[in-house]
Amino acid sequence: MYEQLIPCDHCGGRPTVGRSQRLVCKLPNPQYDYTEWGRMSGPPRIGDRLPRPREVPKTEPLVCIYCADCGMQTPWEATGRDEKAAMDRCGAVWNRRLARPEAEKTDVQRLVEREIGAADIPAVLDLLSRTDGNWEEMGPMFSMIARRLVDATVVTFDSWPIDPVLNDAARWRKLIQLAKWVEMEGERYVQFPKIYSPAEHDEMLFEDRIATAVDSMPDRDRW
Ligand SMILES: [Zn+2]
Repeated sequence: MYEQLIPCDHCGGRPTVGRSQRLVCKLPNPQYDYTEWGRMSGPPRIGDRLPRPREVPKTEPLVCIYCADCGMQTPWEATGRDEKAAMDRCGAVWNRRLARPEAEKTDVQRLVEREIGAADIPAVLDLLSRTDGNWEEMGPMFSMIARRLVDATVVTFDSWPIDPVLNDAARWRKLIQLAKWVEMEGERYVQFPKIYSPAEHDEMLFEDRIATAVDSMPDRDRW
């Protein structure tokens, strides 16, 4: 769903899922009304998922979609049993609120909205460069795809940063080149090399330390 959310209409920011909770029972409960657990404690706050003590009035979990930059927000939806469905409902409200005219929902467009993301930009450029003539028909299609790519880039940039993924992929390939088959008791095993990790890296995070160790090995033979 994230990829299908349109960037914030107000500031162009990234829509984000917000979670919170609110009282299930709307009736006054004089014992708690004026405390942080009661009706007078104000509207749900984004990020408030702290479990409440057992004795205080019950709450239900909520979701919304909000703009992390300017705070524009959909109404809260109670998640009920299916949080994904509640998020879908919020997403529909979020996209409907925008003043963007709804284009015709052809199958192609639905496919584009669901499947095309920032990672496809090179493929689309390639397609564009190989298109010869027939612009009457292809033009609007490319314009739709371009719009979609711009949206997807804004929305997914922070959620799925591509750089660390590519770096990890490069490390993995390096390791594969150094892996060996070993036979033990008639079975085959993949054996990765021992990788030196200096003691001065003790303070680093586990994953960072391993990444640094792999990076310090000679570059792989790219042939
Ligand atoms: Zn915004």
